[in-house]
This record gives sequence, C-alpha cells and structure tokens, in this order.
Amino acid sequence: MNWPGLAFPVQRVFCIGRNYAAHAREMQAEVPAEPVVFMKPAQSLVAPGPVALPRNRGAVHHELELVVALGSEGPVAASLGLDLTLREEQTALKHAGLPWERAKAFEQSAPLAPFQAWPGHAALLFEGRVNGELRQRGDTSNMLFSVSTLLDWLGRHWHLQSGDLIFTGTPEGVGPLLPGDRFEAHSPVLGTHSWEFV
Ligand code: ZN
Repeated sequence: MNWPGLAFPVQRVFCIGRNYAAHAREMQAEVPAEPVVFMKPAQSLVAPGPVALPRNRGAVHHELELVVALGSEGPVAASLGLDLTLREEQTALKHAGLPWERAKAFEQSAPLAPFQAWPGHAALLFEGRVNGELRQRGDTSNMLFSVSTLLDWLGRHWHLQSGDLIFTGTPEGVGPLLPGDRFEAHSPVLGTHSWEFV
C-alpha cells in the first residue's frame, strides 16, 4: 500500500501498547517491563477523508500516537495517527486472555496523516481535539520506551524493513468517538490534520 509522504509501500504496522505511564494508569493496567506489541494489517490504514466507525460494537476510542516509518537504515518519516480501539471488546478479550485483533485491527482502524520527513529523536509535542475540545496532549519524552529503544527491541524479534510503521503508543486522555465528530491532530513539527467520523 502506498502512502502520502512515503517513497515506498507500507509493509507491517506495529503498534505499541501502554507506552505512557499516565495512559497505563487510566486503563488501570500495569506499567510494562518491556514493550507491549500488537499489529494491524496495512489495510487498516485510512487515507485522508471520512472514517467509518464500527456500528453496534460498543465504544470506539481515539488513541492519538506518533507514527514512525522505517527505511532501510532506520526512521525516515513521522506522522500522527489514530489507533482506533473498540474499548469494550478489548476489555472483554483482555479478561478472557485472548488476542486483541478483533478490537484493534478492524476495517479503518488506523487513520493516518501524510508523512513528514523524520524530525529526529528530539522530544516532540502533539495534541488531539474532538470537535475543538482538547482531549489528548502528548510529549514523546514521556514514553516509557523511546523510539530508539523500540527499534532495538522490535529489531530483536523481527527483521525490520523499509515500509514498516510503528504506532508508538498513546498518552492519556483516550475517549469515545461518535458519528459526526471531528478529530484534529496537531504537532508544531508535524503540522495539523483532521478526520471526520461517520
Ligand atoms: Zn494505541
């Protein structure tokens, strides 16, 4: 799959769970000792345009995240994206000790802004608003596992390649989206992008 701002097709989409302590707390979850990883298929990515929320499956939460795109030598681009989550289904799956894919990897579960050139490893601030109201504010220096640590760790378990993406985890403030909502993601470095939900 090709993506605006990326010179090569998207391959795998890695997602990191509980990478900010305050988000782990709001989920009443432990702070992990090593990265929590799951994947979404590349087909979950949603190009700019309206995003169709799943219907009759409980709350769909926004999780705004820094997304890193890898080239052959490491990060080459960054973007902001949403790791949309069917929260009630995820909670039920967690309690049953089952994989999360049904709650995380559904159609259109990964709205993603166009990529910008990799800004480097310096702390990056970002925020998300629903219908103009501030909901999430992130500072990548608060990540439990930094982008370089994640690259090291993922690289020990997978042969990372050009076109792999990493959703690096969400800060606190996750919450439900409803049809008609507009989510605006902003970062001084990566710019502003918004999605309409239907
Ligand atoms: Zn997430």
